[in-house]
Amino acid sequence: MIKRYETKKIYVGDVAVGGDAPISVQSMTYSNTRDVEATVEQINRLHFAGCDIVRVAVPDMQDALALKAIKERISLPLVADIHFNHKLALVAAEVVDCIRINPGNIGSKDKVREVVKACRERKLPIRIGVNAGSLEKEFDNKYGPTAEAMVASAEYNIKFLEDMGFDDIKISLKASDVQRTVEAYRMLRPKNNYPFHLGVTEAGTIFHATIKSAIGLGTLLLEGIGDTMRVSITGELEEEIKVGRAILKDSGAAPEGLNIISCPTCGRIEADLVSAVSEIEKRTAHIKTPLNVSVMGCVVNAIGEAQHADVAIAYGKGKGLVMVKGEVVANLNEDKLVERFINEIEKMASND
Ligand code: SF4
Repeated sequence: MIKRYETKKIYVGDVAVGGDAPISVQSMTYSNTRDVEATVEQINRLHFAGCDIVRVAVPDMQDALALKAIKERISLPLVADIHFNHKLALVAAEVVDCIRINPGNIGSKDKVREVVKACRERKLPIRIGVNAGSLEKEFDNKYGPTAEAMVASAEYNIKFLEDMGFDDIKISLKASDVQRTVEAYRMLRPKNNYPFHLGVTEAGTIFHATIKSAIGLGTLLLEGIGDTMRVSITGELEEEIKVGRAILKDSGAAPEGLNIISCPTCGRIEADLVSAVSEIEKRTAHIKTPLNVSVMGCVVNAIGEAQHADVAIAYGKGKGLVMVKGEVVANLNEDKLVERFINEIEKMASND
């Protein structure tokens, strides 16, 4: 069981982040935010895919002014992502549920002060979004674009907000490589109790972003670090959610749905395991109950795995066993096994 760092609980709309709240999964639209139709459509797609919190880019005033119409048509908590122009944050703060600023590029202290004041009035949290690619010059000059510089930037900005009596904060420390990202979060974690938003930024296409995020976010989650997260993928919206949820599940940070144990390629396999496992995966994708199931291709490890699985198949030549909690419940021909196996899973899930 992973022991999470005890963090302060904040609220982004009605979604709690930090404390004992489940680790939430976020994403971001790619439409022009001022295109209300397209942005709402993308947010609804993300909602349907299982996203908990959505962020939109607010590059100029037309985008900021569109936020009200968007907010009226969605039910996901909405975060406005602001760079360079604090006036956009002031407009956004009137309607959204959280403001993400990168204090390194938002301008003078007075401008940040105005944003903080607006957020305080509406009880909005602020995400201090430190990014290795856009650090304040003083930290970049002193340390280079390193984890130390990211942490120094975060600490500086945390203190700046705290000095104004504002502590409704979450923090992200994103770099485009895994090592700096992990190092930065690890360094900052013991220094405060604010919730952390995890992410490896600009992580690339689905294949590489999945690997980088699984290593980076998985490492941190296993160390109890992380309260909310985004997997950054150059790809379609739903992929970010799918990968994010899988990282939470497979790291053990938020067990949900089936953990399928199945054989790799192996000369001893006595069935069409590839088809069987992909059919099982597809037909059980809707199940949320955390269950361990095993689908094993021969007797060598099948019985051992079945002892620890909720439901298992042990294939033999042309037939096999279905086992529930280590007990054999059926001995069937191969073509009947998957059906019976799925029935047993559904039965167990419905009793949950
Ligand atoms: Fe190979 Fe059998 Fe082990 Fe599966 S259980 S990996 S088929 S030896």
